[in-house]
Amino acid sequence: MRNLDGNYYNPPFSHIYVERAAAEHPVTRRILTRFPRAEIITIEHYKDVFCRRGQDYVLQHGTQKLILAKKHGTLLYEGAPVCQSFGNENFYYTSCVMNCVYDCEYCYLKGMYPSGNLVIFVNLDDYFAEIERRLARHSMYLCVSYDTDLAAIEPIAGYVGAWVEFVRGQNAGRPGRLKIELRTKSADGRLWQSLAPEDGVICAFTLSPQAVIDACEHRTPSLAQRIGAAEAALAAGFPVRLCFDPMIYCKDWRSQYASMTEQVFSRIPADKLIDVSVGSFRISQEYLKKMRRCEPGSAVVQFPFRNEGGFYQYPPELMEEMERYLAERLAGHVARERIFRWKA
Ligand code: SF4
Repeated sequence: MRNLDGNYYNPPFSHIYVERAAAEHPVTRRILTRFPRAEIITIEHYKDVFCRRGQDYVLQHGTQKLILAKKHGTLLYEGAPVCQSFGNENFYYTSCVMNCVYDCEYCYLKGMYPSGNLVIFVNLDDYFAEIERRLARHSMYLCVSYDTDLAAIEPIAGYVGAWVEFVRGQNAGRPGRLKIELRTKSADGRLWQSLAPEDGVICAFTLSPQAVIDACEHRTPSLAQRIGAAEAALAAGFPVRLCFDPMIYCKDWRSQYASMTEQVFSRIPADKLIDVSVGSFRISQEYLKKMRRCEPGSAVVQFPFRNEGGFYQYPPELMEEMERYLAERLAGHVARERIFRWKA
């Protein structure tokens, strides 16, 4: 059978690797019911498969397999310097899933992970217990969909619904104690309408001009579809953030980003958004080095970026010009104090 890229490989999720210790977990059993024809392979530890040497991320990602495992050790991390805190204190992120079903050429996961396979950690309850312990000390702002796109795999994992209910429980009678961001490119508006809204859950939609989506955000929904999902989340009563991040350089970037802005605000009521973010592409030097080996034909990763303190980014004048241009366009719709620009 041809895979999504037209090659002769097994279809996605034809094989599912299951850690022996995770085999009887209710989440494992629920997920496996979604794949009645998959071949199940028992493994001792997810790293035996995920961290093997000599894997080809790009080829593997085109015929992605699923690994179900339990995460041990550190479950919460302090917010990374390349990520925006939106002015929140106690900024953390967590990774209950590794890798993504979408295939953005510029995605740092290609530089970070040795494998293109998707890992779902089934012990979400352990993450929740760790967060509760932390919340006993202080409130938290937590990004839960960074190293994946949780909404895109909701039919498989069901984790968006679980996070929303967890936040609701933590904030009951103590509003604002826990705020999470669920960042996505998914077009599944029905997901948000199927869930009761919760003020502590920010639905953050990453939007790009259609030309950028066509060029390098492979297998992702169109701009129009993503706008539709953001409309649905707003209508359902969730706080909504729009992320114009990463901005990607292309030769007609001004007109691309200008017409995207008009398209977005012809449908989205700007005054209903909690905020918007703007940031151009940036990445650690180690990740970009590996991505350049993986994707020799990708214009977006082969761009002659400038290394600033271990992070590659567009040359400062171009970065400033791109971000300022978009921020000015957005300021025609959104109050300036609700426009966040990434700062190193
Ligand atoms: S949607 Fe996000 S996590 Fe998924 S491939 Fe694209 S950049 Fe990576």
